[in-house]
Amino acid sequence: MKESLQIFNDIVEALLKDEQEHPVAEFVPSSELYDRLDLSLQEDAVSIETLKDVLQDLVFKTPRTATNAFFNQLFGGRNDKAVLGDLLSVMLNNSMYTYKAAGPQVGVEKVILRKICDMIGWDQHSNGTFASGGSMTNFMSMLMARDAKFANVPFDGANSKMTVYTSTESHYSIPKNASFCGIGRDQVRYIDVDEQGRMIHSKLEEVILEDIASGYTPVLVNATAGTTVLGAFDDIRAISSICQEYDIWLHMDGAYCGSVLFSKTYKHLIHGVELVDSFSFNAHKMIGTPLTCSLLLVKDEKNLYNSFSNDATYLYQTDHDEFNLGKTSLQCGRRNDALKFWTLWKSVGTKGLEAIVDKQFELADVAREYVVNHPDYSYYSYEDTISVCFNYKDIPARDLCTYLYENSKLLVGYGSFANEEFIRLVTINTQNEEKDILNFFKTIEDFVAQNQEVFLKKKSTVTK
Ligand SMILES: *Cc1c(COP(=O)(O)O)cnc(C)c1O
Repeated sequence: MKESLQIFNDIVEALLKDEQEHPVAEFVPSSELYDRLDLSLQEDAVSIETLKDVLQDLVFKTPRTATNAFFNQLFGGRNDKAVLGDLLSVMLNNSMYTYKAAGPQVGVEKVILRKICDMIGWDQHSNGTFASGGSMTNFMSMLMARDAKFANVPFDGANSKMTVYTSTESHYSIPKNASFCGIGRDQVRYIDVDEQGRMIHSKLEEVILEDIASGYTPVLVNATAGTTVLGAFDDIRAISSICQEYDIWLHMDGAYCGSVLFSKTYKHLIHGVELVDSFSFNAHKMIGTPLTCSLLLVKDEKNLYNSFSNDATYLYQTDHDEFNLGKTSLQCGRRNDALKFWTLWKSVGTKGLEAIVDKQFELADVAREYVVNHPDYSYYSYEDTISVCFNYKDIPARDLCTYLYENSKLLVGYGSFANEEFIRLVTINTQNEEKDILNFFKTIEDFVAQNQEVFLKKKSTVTK
């Protein structure tokens, strides 16, 4: 073990040093992957030196998500205390299903869940669990919604015509999950959004009424806290009153921005969160823990047991259900995703988590100011979002993003809304400072200036 830990330390030290000079890894085109790296597996063992070299090469050529040049998705940065917690959970290698196998780690998870339920404003009947990502916590919410409406479905199978509702801007896990739940992708109703990307609740009610008239049973409305492209927040209170009227489960998908719960300044964006039946968020997004750390909170824990508990005498041999987390979990073996969050929370306190969330909005303000005040940019986002969407000199966003990537300048993605395609800068990495955000724009400007011909040609081919 000592030897491996030494190799780990050596490679990490080299990586951290290299990241300072090269925030973007060498670009390895997928077509050249197996030529440029030794990923082969062979019959015989290799020497420890070879192993170390191959690993270091692999690590060095892997996209760098923790640097000030990664803005590609809804995560980024490297929080050392959260990394510490995660490394310990790898060393301990517990499985979270029982108290017998995970011991105090069960308490770590339970303390986090309790604290967040309290922050939402829920009573002792509330509870939650962790799953392997936001798609999975959304899936769990849909299963609970279905079973809350049709208690026989877990036993008999699904044989009713069910519908779910979500906005056109919501995450693609919703239709996938509808297919897994026996509801069906085609029974997902996409509700139009307003000009800022928020679900139009009057439309929601209209569609529900049509479905009821056609013999469908609405089982779930999914509201989003932080839509994937614009980072928009659906109006929970308005949607909740419709759900109450028609007795429909309301889930809030806060995978991206549900963590505003930790901020006094921004939690108004999820005003009414206590009204939902379930709420999910990814601590690996705004909170900045390593992937994955996704939490599901449920107002009434009986729904967790109804949908996920199954007896298994080979597994549950000691302790009460309350401490055997497998009874409320989607998975059987489950990695300890709680310890990294707990280690970070313990180290910086709730106020420190608040500062993490607030900083992202501050960095977004820096970016927004810059874009709005520079005539070569057009701006597509709104206030109160950490997704700053823009175009530069009318260059097609997808071309610019791809050239920046292929030339190892920056990793940033594009998105579209209302027939416009644009670059989406996500200010989620709180190890960044104002200068890093300004440097992002400077990198784009310099790159375009140095490659005028490529981009001018692009522009003209698109406008033709
Ligand atoms: C990221 C995201 C998800 C999916 O979460 P994963 O952990 O990537 O599965 C779901 N919904 C929204 C709004 C997201 O931003």
